[in-house]
Amino acid sequence: MQRRGSGRIRPFLRKGTLFVVSAPSGAGKTTLCRELLRRIPDIRLSVSYTTRAPREGEINDVHYTFVSEKRFRGMIGRGEFAEWAVVHGNLYGTSLRRLKKLIRDGYDIILDIDVHGARQLKSTWNNAVYIFVLPPSMQILRKRLTARKTESAERIKERLENAKAEIAGYRDYDYIIVNDKLDKAYDELEGIVMSSRIRTANINPEWIAGFVK
Ligand code: ADP
Ligand code: 5GP
Repeated sequence: MQRRGSGRIRPFLRKGTLFVVSAPSGAGKTTLCRELLRRIPDIRLSVSYTTRAPREGEINDVHYTFVSEKRFRGMIGRGEFAEWAVVHGNLYGTSLRRLKKLIRDGYDIILDIDVHGARQLKSTWNNAVYIFVLPPSMQILRKRLTARKTESAERIKERLENAKAEIAGYRDYDYIIVNDKLDKAYDELEGIVMSSRIRTANINPEWIAGFVK
């Protein structure tokens, strides 16, 4: 896929938008979000903290910030997370400080978080855009998790069991993307981001005022 020219969009915009993306593990959320980061300008992924062990190839502070449970619990106690949750037996959380910095810097932000985290955020960040990625079927979800080869059979079973409860929460989301053909699912995700950028509520009123001076 070709990279798109990076036009200046910021002068038109008042502030960035928060895109919250959730999916059952293996549905393809990471693949879709990485493609979005590669192809469109002015969007950043908020790097989460986790107590899970790094997978092969994962880099600290790039894919996650990997911390001990003690440190994570300390951060919870000091109110340092915008949201946090226990997912598949590990702790994951979004740093409030990192989120605020990205917003201050004027970026659109993707949060790749689970359904519990999304629910927590919804009570405070109701102007975020909530996107849920579904696999075409449970059978295909199992196949993708198996083919990815990052989890043991036991962990895959656990993730498939959790998937049902996660999918049941789909109504909390604004958009549902079925990730069957990757290109089509990607186009839908990009369409959501690009159209939300030009929502009237996101346009800088001072910039518009320049036209009618
Ligand atoms: P998640 O982040 O939701 O856990 P990943 O992005 O890691 O999922 O995708 C799970 C596996 O499925 C990966 O091996 C990925 O390459 C593959 N995958 C993702 N989207 C598709 C698709 N549309 N068709 C086939 N395979 C896919
Ligand atoms: P993985 O271990 O496969 O990278 O991620 C497992 C799950 O944790 C995914 O559903 C992912 O969205 C979720 N997750 C990752 N970071 C966060 C976070 O900061 N907060 C919450 N609530 N979930 C997260």
